[in-house]
Amino acid sequence: MKRIYLDHAATTPLDPAVAKAMADFEMKYFGNPNSSHREGQQARAAIDFARATIAKFIAAKPQEVIFTSGATEANNLAIQGTVSHYLKEFHIKPHVITTKLEHQSVYNTVKELRERGIIDATFIDPTPDGLIDPLQIIRAMTDYTVLVSAIFVSNEIGSILPVREIGRQLAEVNRRQKMKVMYHIDAVQATKFLNCNVEKLGCDMITLSAHKIYGPKGIGALYVKTGSKLANLSFGGSQEYGKRPGTQNTTGIIGFAKAVELLGPLEERQKISEKISKMRDQLISAATAMKNIILNGPMGETRTADNANFTIFGMDQDALMTALDMAGIAASTGSACVSGSSEPSHVIKALGRIGNRQAATVRFTLGKNNKKSEIEYTISILSHIMDQLRLGKGRQG
Ligand code: PMP
Repeated sequence: MKRIYLDHAATTPLDPAVAKAMADFEMKYFGNPNSSHREGQQARAAIDFARATIAKFIAAKPQEVIFTSGATEANNLAIQGTVSHYLKEFHIKPHVITTKLEHQSVYNTVKELRERGIIDATFIDPTPDGLIDPLQIIRAMTDYTVLVSAIFVSNEIGSILPVREIGRQLAEVNRRQKMKVMYHIDAVQATKFLNCNVEKLGCDMITLSAHKIYGPKGIGALYVKTGSKLANLSFGGSQEYGKRPGTQNTTGIIGFAKAVELLGPLEERQKISEKISKMRDQLISAATAMKNIILNGPMGETRTADNANFTIFGMDQDALMTALDMAGIAASTGSACVSGSSEPSHVIKALGRIGNRQAATVRFTLGKNNKKSEIEYTISILSHIMDQLRLGKGRQG
């Protein structure tokens, strides 16, 4: 059976051009980029080139790009690094502001630091359609706020947060009150379609991950603005400007840069975004016309092109995922379910739309290689599953 892959927010297939760039590099350059001999220096030169490519993409300086093992580590470095720096320098309990729409690598890190008594934290509630009001962030600030961390595009419900406006308002408060609150953006799901120019976003740190943009898994980066104060997560050698010790994942870095290069300029990304959003809209209008299905996240300009996330009332989560998989469709739960053992995700809970009802949540995330016919097939399968649900209910009743 032909498979239809609709889980691009979880990971994307490796672009063949990326695979080739990595294979070519791996076979030729095995040296440790920190060695001074020729083999090492060849690897170092390739990393430097890759770093410059990624820096250019976000309008940063090469030395502001720190390679990590992925976005999870980059997010941890941003949050724990900022908090540790303040603890070490000022010996006061820092306050961190984030949102209830964050990926677990931000949400759980802030939660854990709060539970350990290391920080105070505020998690900003989203609106019912999954957006964040920048004013709520500004209002949550205290004299001890050291960091605001916001997701650019929600990996679950696809909302595009007003990160630029948050940056603008934060800069104003910093200026007025002569303080320096660090601003971090998790741009993992935004890289494909949106402008990630750090100057325009007004941020001090930004997180990227290669495997969401048709690159390899296990490689990501944290942009750290020159002059930002950050303590290390781990200690060792002086790699990555002393901020992230350990021999670099050279082949991963080469693949990451190739994936970024293939994204192309913003206009090209916007064209792909438009093409994908047409298919997404087709899926959304067909699904929401079915009884008991609602869309999670906003519609229009504030929804990313590739995401369609639905809650289906009266549906069992596991039954839904099995039925889709058996029909050849790879989708994701978006981690939400009320029935069975799994709990709805913190994001779905924060929208406050399920209550105590039985419901399943399904996330379809489209990619550059999906075809209209695949979306039409997915709609027909979803409709079939909904019919089965109704028939099942009828029999029971
Ligand atoms: N942030 C967001 C928004 C994500 O979608 C993901 C991956 N699902 C991560 C962080 C973590 O990325 P990685 O797999 O590179 O650790």
